[in-house]
Amino acid sequence: MTAEAHRYRITPINPGAHLFEVTLLIAEPDPAGQVVSIPAWIPGSYLVRDFARNVVAIRAEAGDRSLEITKVDKSSWQLEVCHEPVTISCEIYAYDLSVRGAHLDTTHAYFNGPCVFPQVAGQEDRECDVEICPPPKPLGSDWRVATSLRPKDAERYGFGRYFADSYDELIDHPVEIGNLAIGEFEAGGIAHSIAVRGHARIDMARVCQDLATLCEKHLELLGAPRDLDRYLFLLLVLPDGYGGLEHRWSSSLVCSRGDLPVRGEAGMKNSYRKFLRLCSHEYFHLWNVKRIKPERFTPYDLRAEVHTGLLWVFEGITSYYDSLQVMRSGLITRESYLELLGSTITRVIRARGRFRQSVEESSFDAWTKFYKPDANTSNAVVSYYTKGSLIALALDMTIRRDTDGTHSLDEVMRTCWERFGETGEGMPERGLESVTQSVSGLDLREFFERYVRGTGDLPLQKLLRDFGILMRFRPQSGSDDCGGKPSASENPPPPWLGLHVSGKSGKDIVTLVHTDSPAERAGIAPGDELLALNDVRVTAGNLDTRLREYHAGDRVLVSVFRNDGLLQFKVRLADPPEDTCWLEIDANRNEEAEQRQAAWFAGS
Ligand SMILES: [Zn+2]
Repeated sequence: MTAEAHRYRITPINPGAHLFEVTLLIAEPDPAGQVVSIPAWIPGSYLVRDFARNVVAIRAEAGDRSLEITKVDKSSWQLEVCHEPVTISCEIYAYDLSVRGAHLDTTHAYFNGPCVFPQVAGQEDRECDVEICPPPKPLGSDWRVATSLRPKDAERYGFGRYFADSYDELIDHPVEIGNLAIGEFEAGGIAHSIAVRGHARIDMARVCQDLATLCEKHLELLGAPRDLDRYLFLLLVLPDGYGGLEHRWSSSLVCSRGDLPVRGEAGMKNSYRKFLRLCSHEYFHLWNVKRIKPERFTPYDLRAEVHTGLLWVFEGITSYYDSLQVMRSGLITRESYLELLGSTITRVIRARGRFRQSVEESSFDAWTKFYKPDANTSNAVVSYYTKGSLIALALDMTIRRDTDGTHSLDEVMRTCWERFGETGEGMPERGLESVTQSVSGLDLREFFERYVRGTGDLPLQKLLRDFGILMRFRPQSGSDDCGGKPSASENPPPPWLGLHVSGKSGKDIVTLVHTDSPAERAGIAPGDELLALNDVRVTAGNLDTRLREYHAGDRVLVSVFRNDGLLQFKVRLADPPEDTCWLEIDANRNEEAEQRQAAWFAGS
């Protein structure tokens, strides 16, 4: 006899007040007093968010009798002893419009399972049946339901009953409900779809075609998981937004309206390239982190932080492949790919935090450092995304070069998939290192010691040259110069002051002061309101122009307000650091470099 499923029902009961009603019928509650809880975090986003804080009311009933329900910690409740089926009902406030949250208003409903579905302690392996109900009329007449949950009696894109094999699966299917534009396509013989909210003019045919090309490329690289019988991209279009969260059968994405091609628009604009890269990133995660997981995430403990030094493997390697696969699928040119790579190198070398923290430490401390950025983050924290992606690049190139092209990171990832993903075992903390060594036959202990557990700069100059690519450096030409190109502006680079200013709040506020910069030496601090350079007013918008009136070595007087007090600092401007990278194909590359480059670009 199989255990009875947990029966959930979710209703956007009061969209004006942003309230969902969630009920849960537990057929066989723990006779000692059932405990239920709401996760503290959502897999993929390593920050304790305490979703239980949005539970505004909770009660329990058995038949027509109400049961006592006692809160036992920040996220859990215990029911009084009961030997018959119990229904728990809660009201949940949902007004977080992010891929990690839940959001409900009169225009749509969106939720992630960890925000809304209580977990039944000790019975997490039971099937979960979930009925998704419409909002009160007249709302919802043109709303459709987009989710990768499997339908029980619901029609395609309809309200009704869905199911998942376990709680872990239940909370891995975000749900978007609203007036959606839906496109469908096939990749690798698997049905894929994209549900878009907020953009009726999108060129759906083109987006579907491009995504099909991209998904095929990923499926070719690692092979379709046996349980991948469907995949859904959920996309929310905002005036200005960017982000994504991965799941096993879907991903939740946010992009800006201008990123997407409209009907009749041709060409590959940079913002659409960025969108394709985002889709590529989340899709690669369906293997790397959703099925190949750190051992410490098998299973997830959603009550508190779970520390692993491997996030750089899951985010860094995924970031390496996101743009590489967009290029390998032919959607962008090699030159365009090298531009992206140059920008990534620029981002890494501009942040001095790379000398203070290794990617392994950054992974471990993600919960309290990377996910809680402050004004000092760039000086103290290394991004396991960007430096992680460069480690992946260096590892791929080292393996390819030192094994004469017989092995590659592609093969390492396929082996990780077979060993840790298909088996469901999870990757041990030194798992990638041991697979890399056994696949390549190389002794890479020093590589991992120096670049993963240490803070060494990667030997990219040499590696890239061995692949027929030259790595060039120049000073930053202005605050909007992200690198990747030989030059970003006609203007000469301004002398170096060493701070970032944001004008977004209506005031021009210093948001970052670089380590060892003239600004830091003079005493300017994050939070200062920038007023003038010598006796001329300066803003975030004209700082570069004002600085260009001076030269390295000049002394200037910088005036700021700090806590309403006027402060003035004498600053000696310096030569701008050569911290901006771009890459170019070496016209004088030899035959060997030419062959390596061709194999790397082609993924062969
Ligand atoms: Zn990611």
